[in-house]
Amino acid sequence: MHVISLVWHWLLNVTGTFIPPSGSKWYNFWSGFGSDLGEAVIIGSLIGLYRHHKCASCWRIGHHPVEGTPYKTCHKHATIDSHKKLHEEHEHKYPEQHKLLNPSEQ
Ligand SMILES: [Zn+2]
Repeated sequence: MHVISLVWHWLLNVTGTFIPPSGSKWYNFWSGFGSDLGEAVIIGSLIGLYRHHKCASCWRIGHHPVEGTPYKTCHKHATIDSHKKLHEEHEHKYPEQHKLLNPSEQ
């Protein structure tokens, strides 16, 4: 129980909400630790945007869509073999989506 109390005390100190010397605890929270939450959201959205647009095979930005999948590839992986491999990989991961596209192959 003592460890939980220590962790709770540390958390309140880090967030600036423990016994404020001046102002309210919410003022101290939002002008200290809470103001960093917006920056974390911006960084997280940039990482999400990059992951959405990156090549399915490497770190580059993808410009060439792989037919029948949501994947995109960069100029280095825009070959027929690479697209065929990605299509088969997507078909193996999500067979129900390919059944809808090709109902005769059941
Ligand atoms: Zn690539």
